[in-house]
Amino acid sequence: MSNGEPMSRMKVAVVEGDGIGKEVVPSALRVLDAFSLDIEEVPVEIGYGKWKRTGKAITDGDFNIFESCDCIFFGAITTPPDPSYKSVLVRIRQQFDLYANIRPVKGMGSGNNIDFTIVRENTEGMYSGIEHVFPDAVHSTRVITRRGSERIAEYACLLARGNKGHEGNNRKRLTIVHKANILRSCRLFREVCISVADRRGISWEDMLVDATAHRLVLDPERFELIVTTNLFGDILSDMAAALIGGLGLCASANIGEDYALFEPVHGSAPDIAGKGIANPIAAILSLAMMLKWCGKAEESDAVHDAVSRVMAAGVMTPDLGGRCSTAEVAEAVAAAIEKEQAT
Ligand code: ATP
Repeated sequence: MSNGEPMSRMKVAVVEGDGIGKEVVPSALRVLDAFSLDIEEVPVEIGYGKWKRTGKAITDGDFNIFESCDCIFFGAITTPPDPSYKSVLVRIRQQFDLYANIRPVKGMGSGNNIDFTIVRENTEGMYSGIEHVFPDAVHSTRVITRRGSERIAEYACLLARGNKGHEGNNRKRLTIVHKANILRSCRLFREVCISVADRRGISWEDMLVDATAHRLVLDPERFELIVTTNLFGDILSDMAAALIGGLGLCASANIGEDYALFEPVHGSAPDIAGKGIANPIAAILSLAMMLKWCGKAEESDAVHDAVSRVMAAGVMTPDLGGRCSTAEVAEAVAAAIEKEQAT
């Protein structure tokens, strides 16, 4: 159980997964090694590779291992377009009720002052899993509940006040993103978010999702903290990734009451897998989110500082115009941390 409370000894389930997950996760763990922390890493093999080999992408035994750990550090898993394959990540989110998906969007380097966080509801909305298939139509049910909206709004308000165990800075203005002019489900979401923000004394504005997309492109620096429903959050956060240099830089956390999963926003990127050129920064920053969640704020800040220094020195993978390999970038980040600690 954590959320910024210090944990003495930690046990982390480590899932490399498929594709570049197998490259960026070991790189992030190399950065973790730069600290002398009492963290037990428990490797767990799940995903598409396992499904092809054994017919199962994840087993009850894997869930038992997850339950014996404090949290999961996750790379990426390929989801094939096969109707019999159920997304492993969705199953983990459901099993541990990881209702808050947190995606910080922060520009790196001078001249880029973008710095906001997207808080996406992670368990309902368009991803409720309730679908009715007819011969010539499919009905996907969008579920928005008072309880689901209330807990994500409460979480966003805690982040706005800067007192959750990750990426919350000082007081922030909350932007409630919805489509309440059309969807009654969004009317409920909006109404609940506003009442929670008022109760918690958080300043807020509300914005239609289409207007938000427009303003994110034109004026991203105006945003501080966004709370929204599942599908809108999914789309806006990939869009936001493009504002700060691409998916290779974007970290995320899936948070529940007493469990969490940390993962880069990107997928398994089969087009570059095995070439050693995947950007490990998203995974390294996801590791920093994990450290903050489990009460190791100093180490988390040290990772952020080291990443900034390494990028400023031009140590970057090809997606950012650099010439370094995945391992070289991770090694440079680890070395920057070790150097700082030695002084
Ligand atoms: P999946 O099917 O697992 O979602 P995908 O290729 O459809 O994989 P992403 O993995 O998110 O989706 O990749 C989208 C694009 O971004 C790809 O061209 C990929 O090469 C690139 N990309 C994603 N992550 C990284 C990274 N860490 N470093 C460099 N490029 C990346």
